[in-house]
Amino acid sequence: MIKQQLKQALLSSGVLRLAGRLHGKGAAILMYHSVLEDPGSVADSLGGMIHPRAIFEGQMELLAREFHPVSLDQVGRFVSGEEELPERAVVVTFDDGYADNFEMAMPILDRLGVPAAFYVTVDCVESRRLPWPSRLRYSFRKTARKEWKGEAAKVWNLGSEREREAAYLAACDRVAMLAGAEQERVVSHIEFDLGTMLPAESGDLMMNWGQVRGLAQGGHIVGSHTMTHPNLAHVGVEDARRELVESKRRMEAYINAKVVHFSYPCPALFPNWTEQTTQESQRAGYETAVTTSSGLARRNDNPLALKRVRPSKTVDGLRWNLETAFAGKAV
Ligand SMILES: [Zn+2]
Repeated sequence: MIKQQLKQALLSSGVLRLAGRLHGKGAAILMYHSVLEDPGSVADSLGGMIHPRAIFEGQMELLAREFHPVSLDQVGRFVSGEEELPERAVVVTFDDGYADNFEMAMPILDRLGVPAAFYVTVDCVESRRLPWPSRLRYSFRKTARKEWKGEAAKVWNLGSEREREAAYLAACDRVAMLAGAEQERVVSHIEFDLGTMLPAESGDLMMNWGQVRGLAQGGHIVGSHTMTHPNLAHVGVEDARRELVESKRRMEAYINAKVVHFSYPCPALFPNWTEQTTQESQRAGYETAVTTSSGLARRNDNPLALKRVRPSKTVDGLRWNLETAFAGKAV
């Protein structure tokens, strides 16, 4: 309560805005995943990454009213010194490629004139299934098994919710370091061991290519989020190259347009980018790449390692995160 009052006092005092001016211009690139009417219905697969539709709409109204929504292309040109940005510039981005991005989020964005960037996990769209962290989350939450044998024959108890979560996170740390066929082999093995897997119709939560094209035709940016959603900072260079190059090539063929924007997956482990991954993403032909490191995008930043801001799950939370980000704090 006191904390809330203190935040309110700081917001209305103008102190944060003054600090923001002293820090100079920058853009807050917001990271969203999914927007649904009823987030509870898919909590066992998507987990906590969903924004309820009404909250998302309130957050977009806040951006349109009190900030300056700009496109990711503008931020790319600002970072490299080719273009100025308005004060309090914000960019809306979505990771993974969920169908609700097209069905729920785009109509709200378009009504308010907010441009966005949507990053697609290509293999998930092609094979109509959710990214592997959702598959594992579902198996660990729904399994009837009492224990699971993880890496180095370590036995994990699955009795309580907390134990299941700990085992799930350990599995994520392992799979985040794998890509392509090897990743699929290990994920299906875990699903088999746990004796339960996501129903096939959960794949309908992913966009199809017609929807991805629809976003691009609607004037939004579509970019790549790899083929199979590994942590690129933790896979070998050959795997990283294939994820960067192949996803770009396939997307370009499906949407018949250049794909020059990339988002580093962060399914587990941190950071999700390195100096080498930024060089590889540039070599693959990308012009910008967003990370999950926190902060604003500022002039002379590396455009292939842009920071982002977490939007929080309330309208007031978003306002607070943006005001403090513009005042210089990593959110
Ligand atoms: Zn992702």
